[in-house]
Amino acid sequence: MKLVVKGGRVVDPASGRDGEFDVLIEDGRIARIGKSLPADDAEVLSVKPNWIVAPGLIDLHVHLREPGQEHKETIATGLAAAVAGGFTAVACMPNTDPVNDHPGVTELILRKAAEANLARVYPIGAVSIGSRGEQMSEFAAQKAAGCVAFTDDGRPVASALLMRRALEYAGMLGVPILDHCEDPSLKGDGVAHEGFYAARLGLRGIPGVAESIMVERDIALAELTGGPYHVCHMSARQSLRAVRAAKQRGLTHVTCEVAPHHFVLTDEALDGPVKYDTNLKMNPPLRGNEDRDAMLEGIADGTVDLIATDHAPHHADEKMVEFDRAPFGIVGLETAVPIVFDRLVHTGRISLGRMIELLSVNPARVMNLPGGALTEGQAADVTILAPELPVTVDASALRSKSKNTPFDRWRLKGGVVATIVAGRVVFRAAVS
Ligand SMILES: [Zn+2]
Repeated sequence: MKLVVKGGRVVDPASGRDGEFDVLIEDGRIARIGKSLPADDAEVLSVKPNWIVAPGLIDLHVHLREPGQEHKETIATGLAAAVAGGFTAVACMPNTDPVNDHPGVTELILRKAAEANLARVYPIGAVSIGSRGEQMSEFAAQKAAGCVAFTDDGRPVASALLMRRALEYAGMLGVPILDHCEDPSLKGDGVAHEGFYAARLGLRGIPGVAESIMVERDIALAELTGGPYHVCHMSARQSLRAVRAAKQRGLTHVTCEVAPHHFVLTDEALDGPVKYDTNLKMNPPLRGNEDRDAMLEGIADGTVDLIATDHAPHHADEKMVEFDRAPFGIVGLETAVPIVFDRLVHTGRISLGRMIELLSVNPARVMNLPGGALTEGQAADVTILAPELPVTVDASALRSKSKNTPFDRWRLKGGVVATIVAGRVVFRAAVS
């Protein structure tokens, strides 16, 4: 089992390598990275000079929906979407049915992932039993079963005491707590960002501070306990300010992620040609211009550690209801790379190296996962990207079982050519 990835520009921020190299893969591992490696008896994957050979991309925020909501997504369909989107590994959220608050659920997820045999899966356990915010789940047993982090995502950890204890235990185990930050009383039954457009469309609002108040509380508790803390899907400028201040105080165990829709879209889209489009309903909601600009600034200046998709599949029937009644969330695995290329790299906001940091290096670091680098002797998880590839998003053609994307018909520049997991080509785009 030998494969040579030949030609192309290797961009590996972890080692500082950036240039034309070949990558020789043997028995699932990277055997050598060097100039003009002999192909001999190896299979050759030819890469064009302007294509990028990067460490496998990692998405830390994915809802695979199985067990319990297989009409939205299964582990197999979710992972097919992941590798088509360039992701060699995903971390999956525990708000399944049943909630992943028990090693039995973690084991089931890992077994299904092994059967699918596409991207790697890292389960995230629930902070509390049933994610009800009352009794803490068994972190040590869950970690032993394979969980790499804990969260009640979909819901915040509303109790400050529970959050404190969770951070203390997580700190001992060396895993992060991820919080879906939203003050329940301020969020209320809101469905859209509190502002001009929500008012104009008659939608109940969720203010940005509903998020940032909890981010600030959590940062205070992370400082108190020393436990690793990660902000999920940050959307509000006030939250960014809080994280930036924490980092300036030297709190290196405070990290955050932003989802593509929050740096591309704003609440103005709700008032677009299709009014009340439920594919624009997510939680946290699309926010205002200043918030979107703050996310872009944080991505460029390093305050934002990583980009995660918050891939949240919902069946078309569930989304085809009044805006108020529709579930929150959109799919994201297969549109993230084109959006990042088109809106961040080609606009000159970030470099290619920074792109790989946001999508591979830092996700690995935040959850202490293998990968995030192209290292001889390590597992050969590699993503090959074509920065100039024209991509037209076609919702109906997504591998994901659900098609709830607001990016249907968007024309973007930059995409995925191939995805390699443990030396095996698990996705190959029809490009030449
Ligand atoms: Zn969430």
